[in-house]
Amino acid sequence: MGLLSMLVTVLIILFSAGYYFLGTTQKEISLSNGELPVPITTEITKGTEIIDTARDAKKLIETRAEETMKEAENDGISVTIKAPEKTGVVSTKSVSDVAIQNRLMQSGFSVPKSPRTIDTIVLHSSYDLNGSDPYSVSGIVKEYEDYGVSAHYLIDRKGIIYRLVEDKNIAYHAGVSKAPDGRKNVNDFSLGIEMMNTEKGQFTSEQYSAVNDLIASLKKQYKIKFVVGHSDIAPDRKTDPWNFDWKKVK
Ligand SMILES: [Zn+2]
Repeated sequence: MGLLSMLVTVLIILFSAGYYFLGTTQKEISLSNGELPVPITTEITKGTEIIDTARDAKKLIETRAEETMKEAENDGISVTIKAPEKTGVVSTKSVSDVAIQNRLMQSGFSVPKSPRTIDTIVLHSSYDLNGSDPYSVSGIVKEYEDYGVSAHYLIDRKGIIYRLVEDKNIAYHAGVSKAPDGRKNVNDFSLGIEMMNTEKGQFTSEQYSAVNDLIASLKKQYKIKFVVGHSDIAPDRKTDPWNFDWKKVK
């Protein structure tokens, strides 16, 4: 027996013992529709439930996770959903004609109690202040995590669109804000689109093309009344999207 397999065996024994002594229960959810080859393992430990999801079945798992969450809530258990690979690209899916890379965040948003109405799009710009590459997706996402914020979409310099938060959820991108018609808390009824840029930088033509495609796609899905910049809805606090040429948005 190699050293590694011995170590693994010891770890398995220790974990099993831990489960036994901590009174942890473990149950496995298996999916019957055949879409997913990998079983989802659910562990319930002292009031927190961790659901380990499989890479290529995120959507399916979210549905299952929601069911499990409801069950757990009824039992008074709080639930945390653990992403398979927090920093990796989980899957690619397209909303109508626009290619979007799913890269869902685990923080910086809330799930509304009832379905929300979306009628506003807010454009932002940001970059990674801390890393060596200001346009690193993982660096920017980390920054959002650190500040407890997010946006629904992030467009990189090449025009690749990442989905960070699902449209149905309330992403924390606008902060204290007021829509052109006077409504406050713009987060509640808007989608936030972040585009990578620095204060002094210019947006790329690929970004203009991607943001136009994305807005067009969103307009097909929702009755959009306003497409505004962050600086329009929070003029005292915000100046982004920096150097954005509004003439290039149709
Ligand atoms: Zn902003």
